[in-house]
Amino acid sequence: MSIGNHRLPPSVEEMLRRSSEIAKTTHKPFPLFSELAAVDAPKPKIFIFSCIDPRADPASFFGIGPADALIVKNIGGHVNANFENLIFIDQFLGTLTDVLVIQHTDCGALHITNEAIRQNLKDNDLGRKEDIDELDFGTFTSVEDQVRRNVKFIKDSPFIRDELKARTQGLAYDIKTGVVTRVV
Ligand SMILES: [Zn+2]
Repeated sequence: MSIGNHRLPPSVEEMLRRSSEIAKTTHKPFPLFSELAAVDAPKPKIFIFSCIDPRADPASFFGIGPADALIVKNIGGHVNANFENLIFIDQFLGTLTDVLVIQHTDCGALHITNEAIRQNLKDNDLGRKEDIDELDFGTFTSVEDQVRRNVKFIKDSPFIRDELKARTQGLAYDIKTGVVTRVV
């Protein structure tokens, strides 16, 4: 996590160089799906909707590794933007027991409005003006309300199992204190 210590992020070229080095040195082959049963690997049980903001990274604040939960991210942590991913995983793996929806304090989506982004697009004359008002950038004004709306989206869906709905929680993460609280 480089936020706060001002470490310069690597360039794409540097990341590709590192990847090549890792492939040659420390990488260990992962089992194919067809091999997973034989190696008795634990399957993911927890699915998380989260924001892309690096200050609010669930892997960091939950202290978990890449295989401990499946995390989808978008600006604001909206459920609808990745909802088919949840259905996919539930149908494909069939091992999910819990869904977490997490929004965080000071989210960028609180700092700008749909209207402001639309106006910028119009002012910059980027074309297709008639379509601009249809664009939804997922901005919101209350973290708690947003969490409730997202959880409701899951609970109202006919495509999610009742057991999974019952174990769907909405959480809020405070980027200053590091505290996660349950909203719904
Ligand atoms: Zn955010």
